[in-house]
Amino acid sequence: MNDKTIEFLKQIFREFYYKNSSKISAPIRMNEREFGYMSFDKVMIRHLSFQTEGELRVFLVKEVPHSVYYSCAYYHEPTLSMDEKGWKGADLIFDIDADAIPTNCKEEHDKWVCKDCNFMGKGKRPENCPKCGSTKIDEENWVCSSCLDATKNEAIKLIDFLLEDFGISKDKIKVHFSGSRGYHVTVEESSLEGLDQLARNEISDYISGMGLSLESLGISKGASYDDMRRSLPSINEPGWRGRIASFFTKLEFEGYDETSKDIKDKILYAYGKMGYKGFEDFAKEIVNKLSANIDVMVTTDIHRIFRLPNTLHGNTGMLKKKCDDLTSFDPLTDAVVLNDETVKLFVDKAPKFTLKGNSFGPYNSEKVILPLFASVYLVGKGLAKVINSD
Ligand SMILES: [Zn+2]
Ligand SMILES: [Zn+2]
Repeated sequence: MNDKTIEFLKQIFREFYYKNSSKISAPIRMNEREFGYMSFDKVMIRHLSFQTEGELRVFLVKEVPHSVYYSCAYYHEPTLSMDEKGWKGADLIFDIDADAIPTNCKEEHDKWVCKDCNFMGKGKRPENCPKCGSTKIDEENWVCSSCLDATKNEAIKLIDFLLEDFGISKDKIKVHFSGSRGYHVTVEESSLEGLDQLARNEISDYISGMGLSLESLGISKGASYDDMRRSLPSINEPGWRGRIASFFTKLEFEGYDETSKDIKDKILYAYGKMGYKGFEDFAKEIVNKLSANIDVMVTTDIHRIFRLPNTLHGNTGMLKKKCDDLTSFDPLTDAVVLNDETVKLFVDKAPKFTLKGNSFGPYNSEKVILPLFASVYLVGKGLAKVINSD
């Protein structure tokens, strides 16, 4: 990104923070948290602290960061080095990122290119270049509304786990669109605040359905059907057993007589047809569907810094925005907060995209005039630069 482009983005961000200063609210227990930011020159600054909301607002207008972060952790001394901060506890946080969720549209809009031999392909990048074997592979990932819908779906599943299986009350769970590729879910002021990394690892394994065995569902090799029938799950059981039993109510198996209302009969019928190995694979598929695809690294990191709500994402110009009603939330409209003043751009390459209900592109090495929100979206991603208006 050249100086002029950086200046352009900084000017837009500064104006936004200046005009919307009153909407920047401090996280709870702000003075116990570490703050950090990335500048537009991509320098990361950490170990900051703010005492008042006013201080935070002034900082945003003055520094105009590319991205602003705050710690999920509470410290005695947030500005000291990591080992001296004195960890007191941390919010339980979850990150769901479109990158990690397989969607068919990725085959269309994601590309990769080998930096050694220039061989390229569509979809998810391979570990090694299929032509020369190099591991130096550049990715060009895009995120479309289908990717974001799939991501939202994972967030909905996650919230259900938090409410139903962990008994966390709804008012303690906050959901935000990240401003770019996914959703952040934060649990504040709960009894889970003091949990260490290992305990958080168990929570994320549970939500990801890791290590769920057939035995825990009551299926074991060599056991009689009568024995298994006694230990199979029923639909009103809590946790994974109940979730899987409920899922079976929606399934249809050829030749199965639906007159029995007991779900255990249906599970045993499926088991009888598939055998142990077949049923094991089938159960894995079910777990895959029902689990939430969270980033385990984020949840288990008790010192993590997380994007600050109501701030702009430097790669998109979109807001990290609270989703009051997740089901109806449309990130590509609801998180678009910049105005529609026109900007002259040179776009290197961009696929067709939709923002705020308007379609743009595709563009290929061309001059275009776009509204500010779409311009920052492309410039922030490094796909376009601003050209002189004179
Ligand atoms: Zn190659
Ligand atoms: Zn997509």
